[in-house]
This record gives sequence, structure tokens and C-alpha cells, in this order.
Amino acid sequence: MSNPICVIGAGIVGVSTALWLQRQGQRVILIDRDTPGQAASYGNAGLIAQWASVPVNTPGIWRDLPSMLFNPKSALFIRWKYLPKMIPWLTQFMMNATDTKARAVTKSLHGLLYDAVDQHKNLARGTPVEKWIADSKFSYIYKTRADYEASSYSWNLKRELGFEPQLFQGHEVQEQEPNLGQGIGFMAQLSGHGHILNPGEYVRNLALVFEQQGGTFIQTTVTDFTKSNGTVTAVLTEQGPIECSNVVVTSGIWSKSLMQRLGLNIPLETERGYHIMFKNASGKPSHPLMAAGKFAITPMGDDLRCAGTVELGGLDLPRSSAPLDIIRDFIKIALPNLEAQDTTEWMGFRPSTPDSMPLIGNITGTNIYTGFGHQHMGLTAGPKTGQILAQMMTNHPINADYSAFDPNRYT
Ligand SMILES: Cc1cc2nc3c(=O)[nH]c(=O)nc-3n(C[C@H](O)[C@H](O)[C@H](O)COP(=O)(O)OP(=O)(O)OC[C@H]3O[C@@H](n4cnc5c(N)ncnc54)[C@H](O)[C@@H]3O)c2cc1C
Repeated sequence: MSNPICVIGAGIVGVSTALWLQRQGQRVILIDRDTPGQAASYGNAGLIAQWASVPVNTPGIWRDLPSMLFNPKSALFIRWKYLPKMIPWLTQFMMNATDTKARAVTKSLHGLLYDAVDQHKNLARGTPVEKWIADSKFSYIYKTRADYEASSYSWNLKRELGFEPQLFQGHEVQEQEPNLGQGIGFMAQLSGHGHILNPGEYVRNLALVFEQQGGTFIQTTVTDFTKSNGTVTAVLTEQGPIECSNVVVTSGIWSKSLMQRLGLNIPLETERGYHIMFKNASGKPSHPLMAAGKFAITPMGDDLRCAGTVELGGLDLPRSSAPLDIIRDFIKIALPNLEAQDTTEWMGFRPSTPDSMPLIGNITGTNIYTGFGHQHMGLTAGPKTGQILAQMMTNHPINADYSAFDPNRYT
């Protein structure tokens, strides 16, 4: 019997990959230093964001970045002592902020995201995990119509892809969502999307399905690899070596250090994000919202999660309070009747590339596959990424062109 395929990292991308490989009849060992679904895949906003293909680095960022950096009310924060380390990544990120590039990225990401609700349902079909997937509409909320019009570049690209919002203004907003405060004067609504009611439990339970169907999950830290003629023969862990036929790196932001162990320097940086969980909350909206492009407001059963903001600050610096203050201040305006029994706070690490595109594919001439770099939309794209990787590894025909995600663009 040939050695198993080792998938490193049990976030949404790794668990989806393990499940899809299993469906293709492969023997898989899924490895994580933690229990599945604890990192970025735990604390995200839960949106199945099929419309989220327009990158953050659109041409307007050249105009907006200085004010975003120095305006304490903006949703972008920078830890200045980390800035020197980020300059190479940030330079590439800004160089990609052209109309041509933004359009190309939008087109490629759309191919990965447009059918994400179906992809999630397909992954969970016939298992108890289905209960965590909700169909929902999604609304961007703004204080004024002018705030909405300020993001017309991004909305125009969305329209070109067929995402035509229904617009509500003035009292129409509160007629749609009675719990929204009078300070919210404009709403752009998209229908036919979805969200996850508890992202951490969702991923943890998908991993349980993988195990119940005969897959192996090992909780241990991967420290290095054994290579022979460019081929990885074993994954080295704190519990000893695990021999493998192929290795899949789905380790979120920590993929950067593992790829370095494999001799590859991938420009991956984290966009840190925050959430506040309002437990047993009343005065919630009925469906997920995006607050003026800063953070999402997602009803999750009895609770409400407000998650988003971007902080450039690497992996090691402690949390800051300013992103959480931004969320709290806006929530007072958006949901004045919100009351909760308790609140909890969280920070996590989005894995982001300078071209806003994940690395999905095979490193040429090796048995190393990559599934990381999904920045703001990894929950959405996890299942399809897993399916693409499984099809590549088992030589199944792939009926779309995903070459834009080829990891060799960075090697
Ligand atoms: C505030 C916030 C809100 C977000 N909202 C959304 C949203 O609404 N919709 C959406 O689609 N996306 C959202 N995202 C992005 C999304 O959460 C991420 O893109 C996605 O979770 C990345 O998943 P992953 O599987 O690549 O990585 P992760 O979930 O980070 O998992 C990586 C795993 O690798 C493991 N690992 C790392 N190194 C090792 C090692 N050496 N040995 C063993 N195991 C290792 C870790 O323990 C971890 O479990 C949000 C992110 C944030 C921070």
C-alpha cells in the first residue's frame, strides 16, 4: 500500500481538502497542532461571501491609504513598529492596485467563489454538519447614500458579475430591518447567499465526519520535512516522522514558515482581524450585514458576531483595543437596541498574498501541494479549494481554468 497523503492544517481549507481526497478514495492523514477549526477558521464572520471577489487593493487605495492610516475612525490599523518588516509585501500589494490587475483578480476570484453556498452544501450533504449552513441575503449598510457612492468602483465590478443590489434609502431601511438605528440611511441588498451559524463548530464537525469515514487526524505540530531528490518523503512532527506520498500545506498564515522549511520563500503576511461576540443577544438584525465596509454583523443563532477590521502587525504583537472600539462605536449607531448577556473578544490572522489571490496547486517538480493565502474569503472558498486540490492530485479532469492560482508564480 502506498503512503498516505499528509494534509497539514485543519482549518476550513485543510479539512475540506482531506474530505475531498477521501471522496476520491485516497488515504489521508490530517495534521494540526490544535483541534480542528481553531485558528482563522474559528473567529471569522461566517459569511459565505460569493460576491467578495473584488480585492481590497483597487486603484482607489492610492487615494485612500494615507487617510486610512492616519484616521483613527478608519477600519485599517497599522502597528508602526512592524511596518519595516511589511514594506516588501506592502510595496507589492500597492503595485497590484491597478484597474487592470483588480479586474483580473476579480474575474479569477469570482470563479472560485460564485457557487460557494452550493459547494458548502455539497461538502456537508448527508451529514449532521448541514445544520450549520444557512441561506441568507446580505446587505451593506451605510450612514448615507454618499458613503455607498464612495465605494462605486467596487460596486461597479460586482454589478458586472451580475450582483445587482436592491437599494433602500431613509425610512425604507428600517422597514426592511426594524432593529437598524436611524443613523443608518442607506442599504444595498444582495440576495441568494449564505452564512455559517458557528464557523468553529462547523469545521470541527466536518473533521469528525472525515474521521468517522475512516480518515486519520493527528494532533501534533509539524516541525520540518524529510526530502529526497526534491520529493517530500516524510513530514516531521513532535510525535515523530509520518511517511507520505504527497504533502498538502493548508496551514493558513503559518504556511509561510512551513514553505520556508521546504526551501520556498512565499510573500505571505497577515491581515489581523477582530471580533466581538454578543452572547444571547436581543435587538439583532435578521440577516448578515456589512457595516460601511469595515466589519460584518452576523446573526449566529442566539448570538451576534461583529467581525472584521484590518490590522497590519504580524503574528507576535499583542491585541490592540482600537479595532474593537471601532466595532463598538458603529454598533451603537447601527443597532441601538442591541442587548447581550455577555460579550467575548477575539483576534485572528488572515493569510494574505500581495496579489490577493490564494496559492492553489502543485509546486512544479515536487509532490508538494498548496492551499493557502485565502485572505478575507477563506471560509467561502475552502470547500472548492479542497475539491480542486483533490482533483489535481488524483488526475481528475477540472472543468474550469484555475491557473491564476498556480503557486509557481511565487517560486
Ligand atoms: C475577523 C475575520 C473575519 C473573517 N470573515 C470571513 C468571512 O466572513 N468569510 C470568509 O470567507 N472568510 C472570512 N475570513 C477569512 C477566513 O477566516 C480565512 O481566510 C480562513 O479561515 C483561512 O482558513 P485556513 O484553513 O487557510 O487557515 P486557518 O483556519 O488559520 O487554519 C490553519 C491551521 O493550520 C494549523 N497549523 C499551522 N501551523 C502548523 C504546524 N506547524 N503544525 C500543525 N498545524 C499547524 C493551525 O493550528 C490551524 O488550525 C475572516 C477572517 C478574519 C480574521
